[in-house]
Amino acid sequence: MAATIETIGIVGAGQMGSGIAHVAALAGYKVLLYDVSPEQIEKGMATVSGNMARQVSHAKLEEKDRQAASARITAAPKIEDLAGADLVIEAATEDETVKRKIYAQLCPVLNPEAILATNTSSISITRLAAQTDRPERFIGIHFMNPVPVMKLVELVRGIATEDQTFEAAKEFIRRLDKTSTVAEDFPAFIVNRILLPMINEAIYTLYEGVGSVDSIDTAMKLGANHPMGPLQLADFIGLDTCLSIMQVLHDGLSDSKYRPCPLLVKYVEAGWLGRKTGRGFYDYRGEHPVPTR
Ligand code: NAD
Repeated sequence: MAATIETIGIVGAGQMGSGIAHVAALAGYKVLLYDVSPEQIEKGMATVSGNMARQVSHAKLEEKDRQAASARITAAPKIEDLAGADLVIEAATEDETVKRKIYAQLCPVLNPEAILATNTSSISITRLAAQTDRPERFIGIHFMNPVPVMKLVELVRGIATEDQTFEAAKEFIRRLDKTSTVAEDFPAFIVNRILLPMINEAIYTLYEGVGSVDSIDTAMKLGANHPMGPLQLADFIGLDTCLSIMQVLHDGLSDSKYRPCPLLVKYVEAGWLGRKTGRGFYDYRGEHPVPTR
């Protein structure tokens, strides 16, 4: 019998946290949104409200449902404000030290029965779980970006995750009207294990001068029927996130085929992280994106 989940706490109100707040509120859950930065909570709430308003203007959502869903999201300025949550989803920066610190502050505040989930793209669920007081009630719930659009969620059990926790997470995803797949707890799970080496290879293709940004993206869009070219997708994900996932694959599997492309490292060092900083493989500062090489 799965535990009843009514209130969702979210830690991290960035791209992913605000997207999770959006879909959870629309599915009827009460949502508490926390971030270490108060401005980020405000920004996250504004993103949700802007995206819901767009759904209304595209006739994908009724105004009364938007109002009801918005009213279900509450800002949680302090981590203690998450005390009443039945499920907390940590969607903070992809940095193990940051996540560990969060669990150390969060666990004493939570109801002992509450489930703690992480949205990590690549870090070991078993290792993160071991940093908490509840490895049995810890699980990976890996949403895709942008959360309101993407149908898939990967569920990843740590070695200690109990069946009841898994069933509760599965039921939560079902209620969000998304599809879950199950991945074993190995570096980067399924989607990123396959996707990121492809993106990294596209960057090598650029680095070695096999093709320009434009030829590589056009080749994969028209030649492999991908909706976005791999370099465009890398900019969308964030080049820092791409690099960090490649490093996790490289370190975790100790195979040189996962070596991050030096050009990816260079872009990250330059602070050209893709869309979010205005420049990556494309320059987004003008009216239309223009390749940067
Ligand atoms: P982001 O940078 O947009 O947001 C991260 C948020 O975490 C920021 O608002 C930051 O202020 C907050 N934060 C940092 N330290 C904190 C702390 N100690 N306490 C509370 N909040 C803190 O990042 P994102 O893209 O939303 O990624 C968040 C998580 O989701 C990461 O684990 C990432 O791997 C995962 N993820 C990202 C994607 C993607 O495509 N971007 C996809 C799936 C999963």
